[in-house]
Formats: sequence, C-alpha cells, structure tokens
Amino acid sequence: MKCIVNGKIVLPNQVLEDYAIIFDQKIQSIVPAKEIDNADYEIIDAKGKFVAPGLVDMHIHGYLGKDVSDGDEEGIRVMAAGIIQNGVTSWCPTTMTVSKQEIEAAFDSVRNVKNCGEYYGARILGVNSEGPFINPAKKGAQAEEHILRPDADFIIKHKDIVKLFTVAPEVDGAVECIEKVSQDTDVLVSMGHTNAGFDEANAGIKKGVRHITHLFNAMTALSHRSPGVVGAALASNDVSVELIADTFHVNQGLFGLIAKIKGSKLCLITDCIRAGGMPDGDYTLGGQPVHKEGIQCLMEDGTIAGSVLNLNQAVRNLYRNSALEFYEAIACASLNPAKALGSDKEIGSLEVDKRADMIITDESMDIEMTILDGEIRYSKGEVL
Ligand SMILES: [Zn+2]
Repeated sequence: MKCIVNGKIVLPNQVLEDYAIIFDQKIQSIVPAKEIDNADYEIIDAKGKFVAPGLVDMHIHGYLGKDVSDGDEEGIRVMAAGIIQNGVTSWCPTTMTVSKQEIEAAFDSVRNVKNCGEYYGARILGVNSEGPFINPAKKGAQAEEHILRPDADFIIKHKDIVKLFTVAPEVDGAVECIEKVSQDTDVLVSMGHTNAGFDEANAGIKKGVRHITHLFNAMTALSHRSPGVVGAALASNDVSVELIADTFHVNQGLFGLIAKIKGSKLCLITDCIRAGGMPDGDYTLGGQPVHKEGIQCLMEDGTIAGSVLNLNQAVRNLYRNSALEFYEAIACASLNPAKALGSDKEIGSLEVDKRADMIITDESMDIEMTILDGEIRYSKGEVL
C-alpha cells in the first residue's frame, strides 16, 4: 500500500491540510496525518504541494506531432504517454471530419490501444467523434467535403468505442439521429459546429443533446434578441459545456462568468492538435495545412484551427482569470468532465473506492508527479 504525506488534498468542495491519502490501485482512505506510521507504507512526500485528482481531457486531437485521425496506433501511444506529463490521466482521443474510412480506421486504432491490456499512458475512455455530422456554415477547420448527413446507425455501430460525438441539430436528419442515439446508447450527444438558432438549439436539447462542443467557437453567438446556441447552452440546466481556456479561443474576461453560470457543468478541454508540444511552424489538421505561432494555430484563410493548449495550463488560465477557488478550477478539468461522460463513479475526484489517479502540483499547475491506477507514471525530472 502507498501513502502520500505532506500534501494539501484537493477534494471536490475543499482542500484538506494535515491529512494523508492511502491507496493501492484505488483510493483506500484519507486520514489525519498523525495516524500514519510511515513504516507501514510506501511513502510519497508531496512536499507541501497539492494532491489533486488526475485530469480528464474529453476533447484532444493531437499532441507531439501525432494526430488521432492518422489512424496510427503508435501515434495514440505517443499522445497518451505525452499528456500524462501534463497531469492528464484519462482522455478521449478525438477525430476530425475526415473521410468515413479514415474515421473508422481511427476508431480501430483507438480500440486496439485501449483494449491491448498493457500500460500505454493516460487511460483512454473512448473516442470523441467531432463530426462528420456538422453544418458546413460553421465547419471551422473541419473539411467540408467529408461532412455527412447525421446517421445514428454509424454511431450505434461503434458504440463500444465512441464516448461522445458532435452534431449540428438544425441539419437534415439531425433530430432523428439525436433521438435514436440517446435512446439506444450511452453515447453523449454534443451540439457543435452548428448554425442553429435559439429554438433549434433548444429543440436539440429536448431530443437528447446533453453537451456543447467548445462553447462560443463554431456556433451561433449570443445576442439579446437572437440568443443562438450560446444562449441555449447557458440557459439550459441539462447541458454541460466545453471551454478551450487558452485565452485565445474565448476572451479570458468571460471565464468567471461562464463558470458562474455553468457551475459543475463546465468542462475544460484542450482541443489540442498535433502541433501541441512542438515548435512553431507548419503542421496539418484533418489533412489541411495549419500554421502554429505561440498559442495560435491558424489555417491559410485565418480560420482558427484547434489549439496547442495543455489541460494543466487550461486550469491555470481559468484559476487566474476567475474568482474560482483552486479546487473548483481543478474540478472543471476532472470531476466535471468525468460526470459529463458518465465515468464519475470511477474517476474524477479523490474519493474512497475511486481509481487512484492523482497529480501532485503547485498552484501554477506545474505538474510534479502523475499517478495512474496507483502507479507513478510521471515524476518531474526523473526517468521512470
Ligand atoms: Zn476539436
């Protein structure tokens, strides 16, 4: 049995001081530090830093030069091993609107890595299929020629691996698709890349939409007489929302307001592309050229093409640009996405009987250590 001592333990509603956390693959107990006899455990000293739940990234396309849509198993492993250094312990590899064959090849590669039975890095929860059932009018960086009419059977066929998918509720066939997928599967239906008006967005929610793909980006804006998808997302208690908190996709002055409105339904994501963790330069996204400079990735026509954000940086950006407590900012990248994905019985917070997925970090989200299923998988400056 292992035990983390000398850490500030980040729970969903508070930070505990002078407590220790005992775990094997699962969290066994959280007890007053004075009750611990160091001789009984394999001790990990948090050196006064925070012990927080491992982060959950439900929307990430690429990292370290690799892209999920490549359909390359080795690429998935490189990504999984890379993001664990940013404190991510669970993730949803995310496909783009590429050809149906390429999407299915990507599903297969994720399925194979997930089911391989050996350690490969951050745990794969399942695929986030972003498209191909979107509106060309709000395609963003998605390739128009591969956009398809919404087809529930495609999602149902792959429900063993698809955890969530994006659909524009106003396009032909979308309402039937939303209804069927939400009735027949546990797949989370997300609304995004959409030109829906307020009423169409609300109709989608009524039929089963429960999540919003990167709130504000690639959707109808909030205007007082035409509240759009953003208005519907903020007004509804039934949908969680994704936020790319890189300070570029959405102005950071809104972070606190969004958090206040959505509360435990705010999920930080990265939407990171293959340029993440790489130097400035030219890359591709879904087969299209993009240029990375600093925190910005743009297509040739100036369209924003994903981000190079890491999830620990997203937590830092949210924390620094809002009045949220540190534990609340952490929950936006752990418990909230775990809840949205229906995985919160197992992961997302430091609670007894959940998986021992933990990070040791400071308030700047500089990750010192990442623990997955009770095993140390990253320790800053050390080769494991
Ligand atoms: Zn995306």
